[in-house]
Amino acid sequence: MRFLIRSENEMADQKRFRVYVTCDIGEALDLLRNRGYEVEVYPRPDPPPKKLIIEKVASGIDGLITTLRDPIDAEIFEAGRGQLKVVAQYAVGFDNINRADANRYHVPFTNTADVLTEATAEFAFFMLGDLARKLWSAERLLRENKWGAWHPYLPFLGDEVTGKTIAIIGTGRIGLAMIKKCTGFDMNMLCYDPAYQNQEYIRAIQSLKDLRHSSGVCKDRTWIKYVGLEEALREADFVSIHVPLIRPEESDTPTLHLINERTLRMMKPSAMLVNTSRGPVVDETALARGLKENWIAGAALDVFAKEPLPADSPLRDPAIEDRCRLYPHFASAGKITRLSTDPNRGMAGRCVQGLIDVLEKHYNGDPSKMPFVVNKEAFAQAKTG
Ligand code: NAD
Repeated sequence: MRFLIRSENEMADQKRFRVYVTCDIGEALDLLRNRGYEVEVYPRPDPPPKKLIIEKVASGIDGLITTLRDPIDAEIFEAGRGQLKVVAQYAVGFDNINRADANRYHVPFTNTADVLTEATAEFAFFMLGDLARKLWSAERLLRENKWGAWHPYLPFLGDEVTGKTIAIIGTGRIGLAMIKKCTGFDMNMLCYDPAYQNQEYIRAIQSLKDLRHSSGVCKDRTWIKYVGLEEALREADFVSIHVPLIRPEESDTPTLHLINERTLRMMKPSAMLVNTSRGPVVDETALARGLKENWIAGAALDVFAKEPLPADSPLRDPAIEDRCRLYPHFASAGKITRLSTDPNRGMAGRCVQGLIDVLEKHYNGDPSKMPFVVNKEAFAQAKTG
């Protein structure tokens, strides 16, 4: 990791950098101001109109800090042609950025992978617990003063998580972290990932499970393995989604509507779905119908096809509210995760460091060597081509 301290000469040199930020990411922006950068921040909490982003880019900024709400495509890159040097995305997902366009205009873009992995996975696990044990319904009962007598099964029961089987769809950073959380609850795990199978990690988790069992910490022996998507969906009590949003034109294994009527109907009627990935990975109309018609028993969603969730979304149907938990894209929303200025701990710090790496030509000015640049291929190709 490069240090942020620079000599006075270098500071003077950096005064030229102008950065536009589409939402306030906190104190990390002072790291840029302290280096002499000119930083302008869109002051409102809602996203700036695309027209305004285009205007700002066309005014000659060097760097653009974006979030998942900002559509970044050829229009933006064209406005910044010859001047825009980097787009630094404050998120790990970058489905709002047209990668092909960024490559065509030869603009590196960065993301904030890793620093939000544990926070997102633990939130996914908490969503699972809320859904399975009916925490929301239970608290509401009490607050509405409808708590009658303690009773063995009235007014309702939840489903235990411990010892059950979970399908982990997508075993990248967050999927693997979710596996770690589920290991603590002695869950069996069916993993599915068409592109990346970390067998070594799975073996290590199985060894931990075996140790828990052989040492008497856990009564039953539990297991973990990779399987196909259909087997994962058919056999699991819970399904947790950890994939990026990939559109059909981008891959042979797209994730857009990966969870649809067909795949929902594969799941057990008692199964529950957790989605912390991206909204369009789930066909919301099919899911709402599936919950209403009891194809599956429950769903907990942190992300939606349209955010904020529209007032007329079928997911808000009061008929399914007892089995449909809804959260405001909140999985990474821990204080340190979101705001730490340390690039090894916080999204804000990592986002700013990614921008600095490009603008100040760290790593010999080679974006393909910069750890936080996503579209390295555009620059690796340039060298060989
Ligand atoms: P990652 O790239 O490390 O992992 C994604 C995994 O999904 C990869 O292993 C990939 O091979 C796999 N995958 C791709 N297509 C697949 C398919 N069709 N079926 C199954 N697996 C498939 O990414 P990550 O850091 O683990 O993040 C995953 C996603 O989570 C991000 O892209 C982002 O959209 C989302 N996210 C949401 C929040 C939130 O606040 N709700 C926070 C962080 C990340």
